[in-house]
Amino acid sequence: MRSTQINWTFRLLSFCVLLIVFIVPAAWAQQPPAPAKAVTPGQGKSSRPRRSTAIGKTTAPARNAQIAKIVSEIDAHNIENTIRKLVSFGSRNTLSDQNDPNRGIGAARDWLYAEFMKAAQQSGGRMTVEKQTFEQPKAARVPQPTMLTNVLATLKGTQPESANRVYVVSGHYDSMCTSPTDAKCDAPGANDDASGTAAVLEMARVMAKYSFDATIVFMTVPGEEQGLLGSTHFAEEAKKGNMDIEAMFTNDIIGSSLGGNGVRDPHTVRVFSEGVPSNETPAEATTRRSVGGENDSPSRQLARFIKETGEHYVPAMKVLMIYRRDRYGRGGDHQPFLERGYAAVRFTEPNEDYHHQHQNVRIENGIQYGDLPQFDDFVYIANVARVNAASLAALASAPARPKNVTFPNSLSDDTPIKWDDNKEPDIAGYEIVWRDTTEAIWTNSRAVGNVNSYTMKGMSKDNYFFGVRAVDKEGNRSPVSYPRPLARTRPANSPTPN
Ligand SMILES: [Zn+2]
Repeated sequence: MRSTQINWTFRLLSFCVLLIVFIVPAAWAQQPPAPAKAVTPGQGKSSRPRRSTAIGKTTAPARNAQIAKIVSEIDAHNIENTIRKLVSFGSRNTLSDQNDPNRGIGAARDWLYAEFMKAAQQSGGRMTVEKQTFEQPKAARVPQPTMLTNVLATLKGTQPESANRVYVVSGHYDSMCTSPTDAKCDAPGANDDASGTAAVLEMARVMAKYSFDATIVFMTVPGEEQGLLGSTHFAEEAKKGNMDIEAMFTNDIIGSSLGGNGVRDPHTVRVFSEGVPSNETPAEATTRRSVGGENDSPSRQLARFIKETGEHYVPAMKVLMIYRRDRYGRGGDHQPFLERGYAAVRFTEPNEDYHHQHQNVRIENGIQYGDLPQFDDFVYIANVARVNAASLAALASAPARPKNVTFPNSLSDDTPIKWDDNKEPDIAGYEIVWRDTTEAIWTNSRAVGNVNSYTMKGMSKDNYFFGVRAVDKEGNRSPVSYPRPLARTRPANSPTPN
């Protein structure tokens, strides 16, 4: 009896040991992992900085009712009417007739001026319209000196601290057939670029009724096909006059949702932004090679802002960021701005059709060539205009992006960041944003209050990209500013920074 009892006791004990050693941990292992603990980076030894892109995920911008209203008022019928009117001038080649009221670029210029004037009537005197005329000397695609006229409407900002901050949205109203210097051929230019011109005019019509802190310039230019001549003149004058252009959008070939590849995609617009600034100096290039930043130019931050804002207010649309200044080997009216140090991006349809660009209107082997209105998708163009308008309205309602943002020291386990105070009276504070170095967009943010410096504890700038944005009391956010390094300062006893 006693030996049986001991035997059973032994078996029971063995079973318990087995249970504890093998079975329970195995069962635990099959449980779903516990939710990640909200670890604040830099909380002493328990912090796990490599996990910190999992916390503080950035949120959608606050909903601004005025922006939603602007988006809803953009009308595809107005855009269609504008495009058909522009096409009716036969040709808008920059070298075509300036004085014929019915045919040529002069007729288009005068019609656009009159339409902007109509839009301005709803602005309570805040929108002014101007013909900016200049003589273009002889050039590669300009056989003799030619008068060019930019037609622009300026909607003045209403906040004194922001009224000199300018956002420019542009389309080119000139067109071409196969030869850029053929002034006589039919060049309907329904897509390139009546589409962009019509989007700009529709934005002016809708937005003239609303007021914004900062100033918006709605611009239509000639001479794009002749070598970006109208936009170059405006950008050069702006630079000479120290105009504070914080962002420029060009809309060029935003007309069709059907590509030459047969793909119909009415829900995507490409936004091209350069990574390395066109005006980077050799000294800046040296710094960039040392600290990175080839994916963080002001234009790239602008593209991220447009993606976040445009998709928020126009959920039918996807903003496809393209990490290039423009299409492969090609150019547009944002370039003269980039070359002068202004942030600028290009909007273009997702898939182009080269049968309908820069082609004499003709049928060849059963294929219709030419840039005709029948290939435009007016509903699509209206959606691209909405993405533009939402982004512009958000930019002009928000504070300026923070200025003079720097990393004050080089070697630290933490990342201190400094910036200048914004001057707007309605500033609420700032947010630090960050992302893993391989991420395309800012993934995380932290509100840090109305301060002009902040330290991200336990997070090394070796391992993340950081930025700063300003937020006003209504929740309007600026684009992100990317910090630059200050000259290295090293205590005498610190290790060599290599
Ligand atoms: Zn074009």
